[in-house]
Amino acid sequence: MNPEERRDMPDGAIQVDSVTKRFGDVTALNEVSFTVDPGELFFLLGPSGCGKTTMLRILAGLETPDSGTVSFDGTDVATLSPYQRGAPMVFQNYALWPHLNVRDNIGFGLVERRLPRREIHARVDDILARVGLEGYGLRLPGQLSGGQQQRVVLARALVVNPSIVLLDEPLSNLDAKLRADMRAEIGRLHRETDIAFVYVTHDQVESLSLADRMAVISSGKLVGIGTPSELYHRPPNRFCADFLGRANLLPATVNAVDGDIIRIQTPFGDWRACSAPGQTWSVGESVLGMIRPESVTPGAATEGANSFSAVAENVQLAGATLEIELRQGETRCHATILSRYAPPVAAGQSHDWHVSADNTVVIKESGEPVQA
Ligand code: ATP
Repeated sequence: MNPEERRDMPDGAIQVDSVTKRFGDVTALNEVSFTVDPGELFFLLGPSGCGKTTMLRILAGLETPDSGTVSFDGTDVATLSPYQRGAPMVFQNYALWPHLNVRDNIGFGLVERRLPRREIHARVDDILARVGLEGYGLRLPGQLSGGQQQRVVLARALVVNPSIVLLDEPLSNLDAKLRADMRAEIGRLHRETDIAFVYVTHDQVESLSLADRMAVISSGKLVGIGTPSELYHRPPNRFCADFLGRANLLPATVNAVDGDIIRIQTPFGDWRACSAPGQTWSVGESVLGMIRPESVTPGAATEGANSFSAVAENVQLAGATLEIELRQGETRCHATILSRYAPPVAAGQSHDWHVSADNTVVIKESGEPVQA
């Protein structure tokens, strides 16, 4: 990003500008830029080894970037220690003091800040109630369950009233049921504060269900940024399409560009499609036509929709939904529809299907970096 563009941008709670970090031969982060707004629940999402923890550690001041800058509230934090940055980090392994009880673990940062004893007491009481741990204050960490320990860690981060909290896979040590409960709990705690949360995970469900906005990282590059709905329904590239959910990817060629509508030649015919904002398309370009399985709808096309006939090769009941594998010639496609007692789709028979142009997305074949 050039300095002109940088000047035009409002200061976020966090501004990351062209950050690169190498470990020997490994480029963990490659020219990554994004802004986190004050009070936002912002996710860094990507597969193992993509660089998301390195990014969080750079924000925390535990790593130094090789190039690029990080600012909090418009101030470059390069020379500030982790403590001076005032952005506490919540780790996946709880990192509590084993010999201090819950109250003392939570109040530790307030004691360091030399707050009066009465205020520390009141703030610890308040946060214990907010994280649902009243009555647990005198226990040692070893006398708590994993979920309770993670609540203590969250309480310890929130009690100092920071403007930023950094969370590194905070739910990964919990079992599936507890993870779902804690996910909802973190969402609630965030809504009750005006603190910006930066949350690292490889779990797209966690990200899609909680994030205000998210950045998708692949091999150290930022390849998508937006709201969960924008990135899921209009992925900017193949990596985001695949990583965020199941995707049918049809080989296609651009036939025409008419404003926001792109006409593409797919194996199913000449289809109308849309794309993520900010992308340009040329007639004759080889692209992919992406449709989510749940957008494939049984029945003949309604006006303006894309239609095709296909044989239902395989129909499987998955409880609430039917998972259907469709085939027309050599082209295969998956559909997910609501299951009913009398299924509308019989295996081995040909049926009409349609997909709206809104749910047909043209994407580039490669994972082009998309900077915020
Ligand atoms: P995970 O989800 O597995 O924690 P991640 O996306 O958080 O992965 P990072 O921990 O940021 O990934 O690592 C990014 C890359 O940098 C990886 O290839 C990793 O091996 C490498 N890396 C990270 N820290 C170091 C280090 N201190 N020394 C050498 N290489 C490192």
